[in-house]
Amino acid sequence: MPNQSLQSPKADILVIDDTPENLNLLSAMLTEQGYKVRSVTKGSTGLRGANAAPPDLILLDVNMPEMNGYVVCQHLKANDRTREIPVIFISALGDVLDKVKAFAVGGVDYITKPFHLEEVLARIDNHLTIRKLQKQLQAQNERLQQEIHDRAKAEEKFTKAFRSSPNPIAIATVTEARFIDVNPSFLRMSGYLLDEVVGHTITELDLGKDVGAIAKTIQLLLDTGSLHNQEFEFSTKFGEVKTILLSIELIDLSGVQCALLIANDITERKRLENEFISLVSHELRTPLTSTMGALDLLGAGQLGNLTPQGQKFLSIATTNTERLIRLVNDILDLERMKSGKIFMRKVNCNAAELLITATEAMQAMAEKSQVKLIVNPLDIQLWADPDRLLQTLTNLLSNAIKFSAPGDTVRIGATLPDYESDKSKENEPATTDYLLITIQDEGRGIPEDKLQLIFERFQQVDASDSRNKGGTGLGLAICRNIVQQHDGKIWVQSILGEGSTFYVLLPLASFK
Ligand code: ADP
Repeated sequence: MPNQSLQSPKADILVIDDTPENLNLLSAMLTEQGYKVRSVTKGSTGLRGANAAPPDLILLDVNMPEMNGYVVCQHLKANDRTREIPVIFISALGDVLDKVKAFAVGGVDYITKPFHLEEVLARIDNHLTIRKLQKQLQAQNERLQQEIHDRAKAEEKFTKAFRSSPNPIAIATVTEARFIDVNPSFLRMSGYLLDEVVGHTITELDLGKDVGAIAKTIQLLLDTGSLHNQEFEFSTKFGEVKTILLSIELIDLSGVQCALLIANDITERKRLENEFISLVSHELRTPLTSTMGALDLLGAGQLGNLTPQGQKFLSIATTNTERLIRLVNDILDLERMKSGKIFMRKVNCNAAELLITATEAMQAMAEKSQVKLIVNPLDIQLWADPDRLLQTLTNLLSNAIKFSAPGDTVRIGATLPDYESDKSKENEPATTDYLLITIQDEGRGIPEDKLQLIFERFQQVDASDSRNKGGTGLGLAICRNIVQQHDGKIWVQSILGEGSTFYVLLPLASFK
C-alpha cells in the first residue's frame, strides 16, 4: 500500500491491551492497513483517551490487571460520549472469554488468539461499516425529526393565523369553486356552520349575487394569478347582502389548483359613505343653486357693469360653480340609480337615431377640440330608455374627445356581434340578440391595471384628470349602472398611446 501515508487514515482505532506483544502486533497490522492506531496498556488510560477524543472503534483486551475489559466496556457504555463506539473484545491465548458477558456489557464482537489477519480486518471493517451506516441513519433521523418539528411549527403558525384572522378567509378549488376550508371570521360573515360550507360550491350556497361576475373573476384569476381588492356583493345564509373587497391568490394544494380568498367586509363603511355622500350632496345643492343664481344676475349686468377683470373673475366663478353642480348632480344620479330610486323607462327605440343624436350633441365639443367625429349607425330596434342611453353615449363620446389630441378621429358605430368567430368574448352572452356599440378613439389610452377600475366612482387614470379635463370621475360609473339596468355590459380595451375602444352590449327589442 505505497500511497497509504498520503491518504487520510481509514479510521481511528484505539487498542487497549496490557500485553505489549499484542499491542505491537495489532498496531503494526492496522497501521499497515491504513488505520490510525492509538494504543494504551491500561483500562483507565483507555477510558480517558476515548473520552477526550472518541475513536471510531475500540479493540479491548478482556484480561487486564487493574480493570478488566468487561468493566472498561461498562464504563464506555455509561458515558454519552463513548456509548456508541463499537467495542471488539480480544482474548489472549489461554484466557477464558465469557462471550455472553462480552455481549451483555455492550461488546459487538470478539477476536480470539491466535489472530488471523484477514479475519481481524474483516471484523473491524464490518463493524466500522455498521457504525458508519448507523451514524448516517442517526443523522438522517435527526434531520427528519427537525423537519417534522419545523413543519409542525409552521403549520401551527399558519393554523393560528388562519383561525384567528379578523378577515374572513376561504380556500376553494378553482375548477368548481368548491370550499376546502374557511376560517371562523368567514363563518361569522356568512352565517353558515363549517360543515354547511366545506365541500359545497359558491353557486350551491348562492353566495355571489352575480354569477357572471364570479365566472369572469375565475377567468381573470387564471390569467393573472392574483386579484386585489375586487368589490363583490355577497349573500349571507339569511339573505342579507354584504359588500366585500376580495383579494385572491392562486395556490397549489397537493397538485390541486386552489384559490386563497381573503375578504374585507366593507358593508358598513359603504353604507356610511353613501349616507355621507347623499347627505352632503343634498346639502350642497341648495347653496349652489343660489350661488349660480347670484352669478347669473351679476353676469346679466343687473347690478351694474363689471370691469373686464370683474368679468374674468365672474367667468372663473361661473365655470367652477357649474362644475360643482355637475358633480353634485352626478353623485345624486348615481346614488338614486344604485338605490333603485330611478327606473329605466324602456321603450322600443332606434339604435341609428340614438347614435346620430349623440354624435350631433357632441359635434360642437369635437370641433372645439379639433377632433373628427365619424358615426356608423345601424338601423335596428333596441329595448331601452333613450334618454339614459343618450346620456351614456354622450358621456363615452365626451371622454373619447377629451382624451384625444387635435387631428385625431373618434368613431362611434354599432354591429351585431358574431360570437361564433370571436372566442375572446366567451364570457359574454352567446347570442346575436344583442347590439354591440363601439366608441373608438386614438387618444392616450388607458393602462391595463386601470381598465376595470375606471368604472368605479371617483376613479381616474390620473389624479389630475378631473382638474385638467374637467371630469368628475363619475361618468363611467353612471354609464355602467345604466347599461347594467338594461341587462347589458360595458367594458373597454385599450393600448397605451394608441387609443381606447369602449364596448356597450345591449339587448335588441326582439329579444325582450
Ligand atoms: P371623468 O368625468 O373623469 O371623465 P369618467 O368616469 O367618465 O370620469 O372616466 C374616468 C376616468 O377614466 C377618466 O378620468 C380618465 O382617466 C379615464 N378615461 C375614460 N375614458 C377615457 C378615454 N377614452 N381615454 C383615456 N382615458 C379615459
